[in-house]
Amino acid sequence: MDESILKEYQKLVDEINYHDYRYYVLNDPVISDYEYDQLYKRLKEIESKYPEIISPYSPTQRVGYAPVSNLKTVKHEVKMLSLDNTYNEGELKDFYNRVLKNLESVPSFVVEPKIDGAAVSLTYEDGILQIGATRGDGVTGEDVTHNVKTIKSIPLKIAVKGKLVVRGEVFLPKSEFERINDERVKNGLEPFANPRNAAAGTLKLLDPRIAAQRNLDIFIYSVDIGRKHDTHFDDLNYLKGLGFKVNPLIKKVESFEDIISHIENLGKMRDELDYEIDGAVIKVNEYSYQEQLGETIKYPRWAVAFKYPPELKTTVLKDVIFQVGRTGIITPVAVLEPVHISGSVVKRATLHNEDEIRRLDVKIGDTVFVEKSGEIIPKIIKVVKEKRTGKEKEIVFPEKCPVCNGLVRKENAYYVCLNPDCSAKLKASIIHFASRDAMDIKGLGEAIVERFVDLGFLKSIADIYTLDFEKIALLDGFGKKSAENLKKSIEDSKNRSFDRVLYALGIRHVGIKTARILTNHFKNIEKLQKATIEELVSIDEVGEIIAKSVYYTLRDENFLKLIERLKSYGLKFSMEDDKENKSEKLKGLKFVITGTLSKPRNYYVELIEKLGGEVSSSVSKKTDYVIVGEDPGSKYNKAISLGVKTINEEEFYKLIGGTDEKY
Ligand SMILES: [Zn+2]
Repeated sequence: MDESILKEYQKLVDEINYHDYRYYVLNDPVISDYEYDQLYKRLKEIESKYPEIISPYSPTQRVGYAPVSNLKTVKHEVKMLSLDNTYNEGELKDFYNRVLKNLESVPSFVVEPKIDGAAVSLTYEDGILQIGATRGDGVTGEDVTHNVKTIKSIPLKIAVKGKLVVRGEVFLPKSEFERINDERVKNGLEPFANPRNAAAGTLKLLDPRIAAQRNLDIFIYSVDIGRKHDTHFDDLNYLKGLGFKVNPLIKKVESFEDIISHIENLGKMRDELDYEIDGAVIKVNEYSYQEQLGETIKYPRWAVAFKYPPELKTTVLKDVIFQVGRTGIITPVAVLEPVHISGSVVKRATLHNEDEIRRLDVKIGDTVFVEKSGEIIPKIIKVVKEKRTGKEKEIVFPEKCPVCNGLVRKENAYYVCLNPDCSAKLKASIIHFASRDAMDIKGLGEAIVERFVDLGFLKSIADIYTLDFEKIALLDGFGKKSAENLKKSIEDSKNRSFDRVLYALGIRHVGIKTARILTNHFKNIEKLQKATIEELVSIDEVGEIIAKSVYYTLRDENFLKLIERLKSYGLKFSMEDDKENKSEKLKGLKFVITGTLSKPRNYYVELIEKLGGEVSSSVSKKTDYVIVGEDPGSKYNKAISLGVKTINEEEFYKLIGGTDEKY
């Protein structure tokens, strides 16, 4: 190969990396898109001709081509502690006073916007990005380098010799968050509840090509290893100089009054920012003081988060529609003038039932206060009666089912559709049946179920197991491949345990926990069917309402037919069917789970119970292990104070002798 080609290649790599920096970090490009594309094209040309010279920091290497098979764990060299929260000025003042009391002179502080995303650490060796890892439980995280590299505001190469470890918050811009959620809904998937979940979920994807399409971004906010200065603030400027994206709203302040005033400023700017913030972070600026203050087992003593109160916005109630759930309950849903609250556009809010509507005294056309915090469904808090014009309309409950026109009866505060063949009930039952905690049938989401019911493919839950996949493959938006995938996940669902099958059937008042209690007690459906109400009530945690619901449902002719059909397709209706998976590895051991683990909580509960262990909701001296995930709650402190052994996810897998893939 010609020496001049190599030179040209290296120059191109540096040039494109520089233009990425101008565009993604500074938001100030110096060439046109066309010129950029020309450079990129030439780079790819050279790389395809001479693949042996491809540099690890070439911009083409941001998206590795092959998905990884699983996420490896990484031990953090510097522990990534989470921050203690404060919710008002008084609590913040306590923090400030504690800091001052423990230092001989007054420190300076740095106030930073608290980005609603996922924390990562980035490790560079001799200037090349080597590892990107999630926070995990603070001690070990997951290796997500393949996805971190797709973030164009992260430099692949910097001018630093030796090791540099920095920390930052990966986030999704508001516009991207909305775009991704719209797309998910269109594809029949659950939308992400908030930008934080979306960012964390994207980081943990196995396929970097999907992550690359989601346009994640990052703000770097500290140096763990490789510090250059005596203060945090000076090091942030150092990072900026190296080409990292540092939030421009970070401010150094000297007094408590200035801390408060910058927090307020950030709060006022919240709506205009293109990313979601849920508070501010206040840090002691001088490293020497940080060291002197030290840390508790969970939090550093030199930094604290200030959380903004849940957002409350006014908007107009345009209409009320009525949704029919799987038990036939008709729920009023508020249709709102779309309004931005806590990271998402809110268009709907629940009104629960008629009593709630009376309590609020709300009418169509009213201006209302809507609250949304975290993952909670938006709620109407109160009506701004001063804004009434006299044109507002009363909310009238339908006398017939809005979907099937069937008869409606009022039961307590609820209106219920009495038609057993109501298509709304059918849709909701099937959606519940296929949902994650129930039969977990991937690809059978809300939109698909509605479509199949409307097409007449599904007239009963049991029809899921007799679907005609050749017909489905011909549908718009389907194909052979996706029809086959659906077929496979429906087949897979036949392996679900009896408790999940029972829960999936959607008997009123029988949640996943009750289903587990019932199946553990009765072992099979025949015994459960023979149980009297008295027998049912005698079981711990089963009350009269549940008992009656189970008793009468199991005497309903249609329900019994459904069970017979599902049995004939091979679904599990007894614990004996699960026997081959039973083991006694955790026999007699009591577990408590706290914090967020890498899989849904139910997964661990099932696994522990399958292995003969027990899971309870509170820590006591009898607890054997507390499994600690990300952002653990008060159970963690309790475990420490009682001297109960705490383990992380990895240690849990060690305890049961293997990785999760075995289970
Ligand atoms: Zn109906």
